[in-house]
Amino acid sequence: MPFISAPAKIVEIIDFAPGEIRAVRLKLPDDVEVKARPGNAFWLKLFGKASGRLEMRTYSFSSNPRSPIIETVVSKAAENPNTSWAFQEFLSGTELEARISEQNGKKSLFINPRKDLELEPDDWWQDKKFLFYGLGTGVTPHLSAIRYMAEKGMNVNVIYVSSSKLMRRLIFHDELENTQKRFPQNFRYLPFLTRENPETLKEWKYFTGRPTVEALTKLIPDISERHLRICGGKGTRKNLEKEANKFKINFPGVKTEEW
Ligand SMILES: Cc1cc2nc3c(=O)[nH]c(=O)nc-3n(C[C@H](O)[C@H](O)[C@H](O)COP(=O)(O)OP(=O)(O)OC[C@H]3O[C@@H](n4cnc5c(N)ncnc54)[C@H](O)[C@@H]3O)c2cc1C
Repeated sequence: MPFISAPAKIVEIIDFAPGEIRAVRLKLPDDVEVKARPGNAFWLKLFGKASGRLEMRTYSFSSNPRSPIIETVVSKAAENPNTSWAFQEFLSGTELEARISEQNGKKSLFINPRKDLELEPDDWWQDKKFLFYGLGTGVTPHLSAIRYMAEKGMNVNVIYVSSSKLMRRLIFHDELENTQKRFPQNFRYLPFLTRENPETLKEWKYFTGRPTVEALTKLIPDISERHLRICGGKGTRKNLEKEANKFKINFPGVKTEEW
């Protein structure tokens, strides 16, 4: 299939840890439709700082995916960063290329064919219990689902576990605290910090260390009734399932995306 693209202009940047993690909002042309569900991802062509050439990369939506503005969260890869390094230096106004599809003259944003974390139709997830588990930028697809569910009125029960190395690397922390305040019956936010200096932790009212199954079973008594959605680096699911086996936890459903 030929690569067709449309300009995706950075219209807003939210730096969490400057040079390390940021959210970007991209504006697509008005004639490009976004037909996607939370959990989907899109493709961008952008310059690689290490390779010095144009590269194609995939990004999950962190926003409720809709036209004309889409959002994602990108962190600089820990090893051999390339496009993710360039991403930290883009300025507002930078134009990237988004892959699109064209059918019968109608343009739409190309959606990554693998849809591992795609949120089911609304009548499926209403009244179910979820555990969203995101390590680092692995929270990105979960954010999209949370924002979508919040907009819909959220007849659902979600526990959102995130893990960040340091306080400054927390992603949309204030918004998630507010969502918890707005929907106390439906949403619990459990962020973990793995490498923060104890001195700076005095004002931290959440958790430290890794979000292990052992730690989670203490915080979430009904953990084995929850549909587990995992997003993180390679091996995240295997580790989590190995630990869950030790505690004889069988989740009713597990879906994963690893990158
Ligand atoms: C479905 C999906 C959704 C994604 N969503 C996001 C998102 O929301 N946010 C985000 O930040 N990233 C996301 N990614 C990852 C993203 O596409 C990029 O891979 C990431 O930003 C790093 O890009 P890079 O060009 O700097 O490094 P890359 O060249 O993509 O490399 C990434 C890492 O993999 C290692 N690596 C590369 N090639 C190999 C190889 N052949 N063998 C072993 N290791 C290798 C590198 O050392 C580096 O540490 C997603 C990926 C997928 C598949």
